[in-house]
Amino acid sequence: MSSPIANIGHYPVSSGFSQHRVHPITGKVRRHQGVDFRMPPGTPVLAAGDGVVHTGHQEHGAGNFLSVDHGGEAATRYMHLERFAVEDGQAVRRGDVIGYSGNSGGSTGPHLHFEVWRGGEAVDPQRDPLTQLGGPGPGGHGLSAVAAAATSPASPDAAGGRQHQGAIAAPAPLRGVFAAAEARHGLPPGMLTAVASVESNFNSNAVSSAGAQGMFGIMPGTAKDLGVANPFDPREAAEGAASKLAADYEKFGNWNHAVMAYNAGPHRIEEALAGRGKPLKQETLDYLPKVANAFQQVNRGT
Ligand SMILES: [Zn+2]
Repeated sequence: MSSPIANIGHYPVSSGFSQHRVHPITGKVRRHQGVDFRMPPGTPVLAAGDGVVHTGHQEHGAGNFLSVDHGGEAATRYMHLERFAVEDGQAVRRGDVIGYSGNSGGSTGPHLHFEVWRGGEAVDPQRDPLTQLGGPGPGGHGLSAVAAAATSPASPDAAGGRQHQGAIAAPAPLRGVFAAAEARHGLPPGMLTAVASVESNFNSNAVSSAGAQGMFGIMPGTAKDLGVANPFDPREAAEGAASKLAADYEKFGNWNHAVMAYNAGPHRIEEALAGRGKPLKQETLDYLPKVANAFQQVNRGT
């Protein structure tokens, strides 16, 4: 999936996703189940993914609105449009122009209200890894943004490979090992700690139900490809995990996708980016926010 607007970064977010918002017209407190981008009327609105369009109209609510059913319980919605570029029931591909933004329905100014739904729940489009596929996405709150902040010149000692004292920390004997592997492969400091925490909670004897082994949850076939003879040896596993993350970063040019590839394999992520293949598993969609959250906790207070 991708952003609903080309050059989304040009359009300010006038209202983010939230559980509690005072509605600008009714004054009532209610959920805001999407994100609002302020933009001139007539701006082309793009399908965030392949799917089937449904059109609708609500005089005092969503105005002219579209939804795209992406299958696999995923859908996106686009509200307050000036007009539609597609018909109800039409099949569309990711990036197709499906309508033009406007100010229809209960809207206080020209904007696009965009929603992402998964499994019957509205999710924050600015934090959803789905919308980060195919581009930086509307918000860029994933691991890449966190990693960029952690390694920016504004926090010079974050790049120095010093030991982490955050809410999540690697076992003391391994901290230097992880820091050295991160430095050698150009990983943001703390990334191996975050991955090991999510994969195994630092248990070097872990075996997952899928057969992933050791502290870094490495599958036997992957271990072979990486030249890791013993995935239960945390030193060897850390080196293998670092080289895999670095190779996938090189391939995708972004840490979000590299982390998702660590979970699902680079081939699945390539397919998802191209809009082909099966929808990504929920486990993979959940994996990036887990690692990003752990990464933030590793680096907390630094
Ligand atoms: Zn809105």
